[in-house]
Amino acid sequence: MALRNITKLLKNRTLPQCIRYFSIILTNEHEMLQKTCRDFAESELKPVAAQLDKEHKFPTEQIKKLGELGLLSINVSEKWGGSNLDSLSLAIAVEEIARGCGGTGTIVSVHNCLYVNLLDRLGTDAQKETFLRPFTGGTLGCFALSEPDAGSDVGAISTTAILDGDHYILNGTKSWVTSGYEGKAVVVFATVDKKQKHKGITAFLIPLPYQGLSLGKKEDKMGIRASSTCNIILEDVRIPKENVLGNVGEGFKIAMSQLDNARVGISAQALGIAQAALDCAVDYSSQRKAFGRPINEMQAVQLRIAEMAVALESARLLVWRAAVLCDEPVRSSKESSMAKLAASQAATFVSHNAIQILGGMGYVTDMPAERHYRDARITEIYAGVNDVHKQIIAGQIIKSYQN
Ligand SMILES: Cc1cc2nc3c(=O)[nH]c(=O)nc-3n(C[C@H](O)[C@H](O)[C@H](O)COP(=O)(O)OP(=O)(O)OC[C@H]3O[C@@H](n4cnc5c(N)ncnc54)[C@H](O)[C@@H]3O)c2cc1C
Repeated sequence: MALRNITKLLKNRTLPQCIRYFSIILTNEHEMLQKTCRDFAESELKPVAAQLDKEHKFPTEQIKKLGELGLLSINVSEKWGGSNLDSLSLAIAVEEIARGCGGTGTIVSVHNCLYVNLLDRLGTDAQKETFLRPFTGGTLGCFALSEPDAGSDVGAISTTAILDGDHYILNGTKSWVTSGYEGKAVVVFATVDKKQKHKGITAFLIPLPYQGLSLGKKEDKMGIRASSTCNIILEDVRIPKENVLGNVGEGFKIAMSQLDNARVGISAQALGIAQAALDCAVDYSSQRKAFGRPINEMQAVQLRIAEMAVALESARLLVWRAAVLCDEPVRSSKESSMAKLAASQAATFVSHNAIQILGGMGYVTDMPAERHYRDARITEIYAGVNDVHKQIIAGQIIKSYQN
C-alpha cells in the first residue's frame, strides 16, 4: 500500500486504533465471539460433519441455529436486523465454523459476504425490506456471477438482460451457484449490452423460486458436500426495473469490490479447515505408537507439525490484516489476494501433511483427515483461482516499484 494511503488510513485515529491496525489485537468482543463460535462448532458441527459429508446433506438445523445467533448477518447494520460487527469478526466466526464443518463454512461465508453484506452496502430501502431484512436470521441468499463459459474471465458473461417497458427479460445460464437449492433469493449478473463488455454488466435481484428460473442438477463435489452447488437457468425471466441492484452497467465493479470482502470469508474458511487438520494430526500423533514410543517424539513428525503450524499462523495474520483493511474506505485487493493465496495454500499444505502423520488412517473415512484434505482443495479455486490472485499481487508489487 502506498505511503499516502497509509497516512490517509491512520489520520484521525487514536493510538489503540493504530496499534490494532498494525498488530491486530483481538478485543474482548472478538474473543467472546470466537468462544461462542468455537463452542457451537464443537457441539453442533463437529459431531455431524462426517455424516453431512457422506450424505451430501445440507445442515438445516445448524443453519437455523446460526441464524438465531446472528451469524448469518455478521456485517449487516442493526437497522436491517443485522449483528453490525466488523470484518475481523466475520473472519473469526467463519474460521471457527469451518473448523467444525468445512461445508457449513462455505454456506455461512457465501451468504454473509456475497449476499447480505452486498445488499446492506448497495440496496435501496425498498430492496432491503424485501431482500435483506428477511435474510438475516436463517433464510439464505445466493450470488450468481459465474457461467459455464465465464469463470475467471468475468467480463465474458453472456446472460442477457433486455429492457422491455418497466421490466428486464433475462436469458442465460449461471453456474456453480452456492446454496442454489436452499436459497430464497439470488443476485444474478447479466449484460444489458454485450458490446459494452464489462460496462454492460448489471446486477439483478430475483426471489426464489421465480417464473422462468429453474435449477440444474446438484453438483456431485469432491468436498464441502454439506453445501449445495448448482446451475441456475433463466428462460425469459421478467424482472421489474426496480430489482436492479446499484446502477445499470455497474455490475462488474460491484462484483469485483464485493469479492474483496468474500476473499476474507473464503480465506477464513481455509484457516478453519487447516486448523481442524492440525488438531487431528497433533492429537493422533500423541496417541499413535511406533517403535515403542508415540510418533510425536519422532523428529520427522515434529518437523511436519512445526511447518504446518507456521503455515497456518502466518496465513491467519494475513487474513486478519485483510479483514481489518476491508472495513477501511481504501480498496485493498492486494492484501485480500495475499490472504486468500496464503490461507488456501496453508489449508492444502496442512491437510496434506495431516494425512501423512496419520499414515493409513489418514486415507480412510474413519478419521476426518481425508475430509479436511478434500474440503481444503476448493479454497484454491473459488473466490478467484489462485493463479489470478498471484497476478493481482505481482501486478501491484511491480507497480509500487515504478511509483
Ligand atoms: C464448489 C463451488 C462453489 C462455487 N460457488 C460460486 C458462487 O456461489 N457464485 C459464483 O458466481 N461462482 C461460484 N463458483 C465459481 C468459481 O468462482 C469459479 O469456479 C472460479 O472463479 C474459476 O472459474 P472456472 O471454474 O471457470 O475456471 P477457469 O476460469 O476456466 O480457470 C481454469 C484455470 O485456468 C487458469 N487461468 C484462468 N485464468 C487465468 C489467468 N488470468 N491467469 C492465470 N491462469 C488463469 C488457472 O489455472 C485456472 O485454475 C463456485 C465454484 C465451485 C467449484
